[in-house]
Amino acid sequence: MKCPKCESENVQVHYETEKQGFSGSKGCCGWLLFGPIGLLCGLCGKDKVKSEEKYWVCNNCGAKFYD
Ligand SMILES: [Zn+2]
Repeated sequence: MKCPKCESENVQVHYETEKQGFSGSKGCCGWLLFGPIGLLCGLCGKDKVKSEEKYWVCNNCGAKFYD
């Protein structure tokens, strides 16, 4: 992978996960409200959220870019 700006190969991949969807607290709430089933529901939400975003940051010029 090369930086589109300066063509440096000194780039680093980053993963940005959006905060929506499953969180530990949600799972806990589910547990409190519905017991094991609620916890399962909390965990189910995890699979639905695949909004992880991959991007690259150039260590040379600081540019942020995508595949
Ligand atoms: Zn660059």
